[in-house]
Amino acid sequence: MAATYDAIVIGGGHNGLVAASYLARASARTVVLESRHKTGGAATTECPWPDAPEFKVTRLSYVMSLMPPTIINDLKLASHGYKVYPMGPYYQAFPEGGSLKLYADDAQRNYESVAKWSKKDAEAMPLWDAWLAGLADVLGPMLLTAPPNIGSRKPRDLLGTLRLAWRHRGLNVRTIADVTRLMTMSIADLLDDWFESSQVKGALALNGVIGTWAGPYEPGTAYVMAHHSIGDIGDGHLGNWGFPEGGMGAVADAIAAAARGFGVEIRVNSRIGRVLVENGRAIGVALENGDELRANTIVTTLHPRTAFLEHVGEKNLPADFARDIRTWKTRSGVVKINLALSELPNFTADPGSELAEHHTGAVEMAPSMEFIEQAFLDAREGKPAARPFSDGVIPTAFDKTLCPEGTHIMSLFTQWVPSDWNLEPHTAELEAYADRMIELYDEVAPNFKASILHRDVVGPYQMEQEYGLIGGNIFHGELSLEQLFHMRPAPGYADYRTPIGGLYYGSSATHAGGGVCGIPGWQAARAALADRNVTRSARSPRAAG
Ligand SMILES: Cc1cc2nc3c(=O)[nH]c(=O)nc-3n(C[C@H](O)[C@H](O)[C@H](O)COP(=O)(O)OP(=O)(O)OC[C@H]3O[C@@H](n4cnc5c(N)ncnc54)[C@H](O)[C@@H]3O)c2cc1C
Repeated sequence: MAATYDAIVIGGGHNGLVAASYLARASARTVVLESRHKTGGAATTECPWPDAPEFKVTRLSYVMSLMPPTIINDLKLASHGYKVYPMGPYYQAFPEGGSLKLYADDAQRNYESVAKWSKKDAEAMPLWDAWLAGLADVLGPMLLTAPPNIGSRKPRDLLGTLRLAWRHRGLNVRTIADVTRLMTMSIADLLDDWFESSQVKGALALNGVIGTWAGPYEPGTAYVMAHHSIGDIGDGHLGNWGFPEGGMGAVADAIAAAARGFGVEIRVNSRIGRVLVENGRAIGVALENGDELRANTIVTTLHPRTAFLEHVGEKNLPADFARDIRTWKTRSGVVKINLALSELPNFTADPGSELAEHHTGAVEMAPSMEFIEQAFLDAREGKPAARPFSDGVIPTAFDKTLCPEGTHIMSLFTQWVPSDWNLEPHTAELEAYADRMIELYDEVAPNFKASILHRDVVGPYQMEQEYGLIGGNIFHGELSLEQLFHMRPAPGYADYRTPIGGLYYGSSATHAGGGVCGIPGWQAARAALADRNVTRSARSPRAAG
């Protein structure tokens, strides 16, 4: 006899855990099935060096911003250990000398720092911040909106489209123009309209290409910048990026604890092989070991190719949906480099290896737009970047739980390697790439290379094989324009429902993903619960009468 539940959640990444928590909170008997030995997915803290288990790294994702207070409060995550240290300034030390700091919340210091490079840019900076804040007012709440299936004539979809239009009735010509610019421009062109100094433009361009298979001159990268910069996710909280204590795995652990508190059963080492479909409805799942579990509600949080093409099978899917998933773009060419350091980087521009403000935020290696662009051009030509860029952070500037006192952990999120490096390990080339990345930091902080005690290099192949991030894309699918909002993951299915009855979709490949925000999991659970209510009321005597 197959075990029976009210709800099965496939994937124990943070979205799966959020979905399960909300389902169980609504009294559904829920089980989470995770293929790895631990939950968390791309939000994971691990000890990659067997001979140095005292060092823990936040192996893939590394900073928090977009999780809405609604989820944090509903799941009482603080009581399960969720604690975030706000990050310090963006910091870039330049090979030619000097440095730049950018402060998210201190206009005066921002002015002074930027004015060293350009007075004109220093004056433009508060206007730029205000412009972004205005866009956040429009785009932030959209992150919590379930996209309507635009074009569908079903009453529920028509109502959703009308609601969306009504909510935006206050927008004026200027705001619509600004949103249009943001959605269509390259980050390079947008920044050229605002700033003149290459140092400032390099620092601001970085967020436009994070996790993206596109250089800063590609249209659409302005939106990627907004996705990473707009912290107001719609319920009155201006979010900053921050370091979760215990690394990103601690965030997943807090959600898992909340889920268990609501009664969720979590099974690790439980790889799903198939979703069982009967007459167009999901009725259960089959594990790779042959076990079967049954439920009327199933939420899958895996990459769309795995979730639909592998687990449901094309024969059970409408042809156009299957084609959309087959052609889903899922590249990024990201390499994560995790380091254990014996001391903090001693920058020539800001000397000292004692902890200082410039160690507490993003410690970047993206000195100009052209530098970032060249890294992309190399990879697009099929070679790993000769001079990769890096979004570096040193979480141990605050978090003392990750390594022994006096030492530090540094996380380098770097790009790019060729988009097909998910197909082969490329181990030796990745090590050479990491050497080059480290050399670049060593040029501006000459103690850097010698301070490295251990290093861990995770490329696209490992991301795909070990973590299920197909193509090595960090978000289960690119944040390119044709894959946003009502198109994420496919037109007609952006409302967290799927072509299969009873099967819901809540991975980062849905609207508001990616990132460790929990919104896709929350929305998928809401859709499932709403449909159960519809079924119940349709059967109730009042509805029948
Ligand atoms: C290198 C890197 C850096 C990033 N940096 C950041 C950052 O700093 N901040 C941020 O907010 N976001 C960041 N992201 C993105 C973010 O981590 C992801 O968008 C998010 O964690 C995805 O969550 P998820 O629950 O949707 O999917 P996942 O975390 O991918 O979870 C899916 C789960 O399903 C499991 N699974 C796979 N196949 C099966 C199967 N057959 N059966 C059962 N289980 C299965 C997987 O093991 C995994 O645990 C980063 C991602 C990467 C890779």
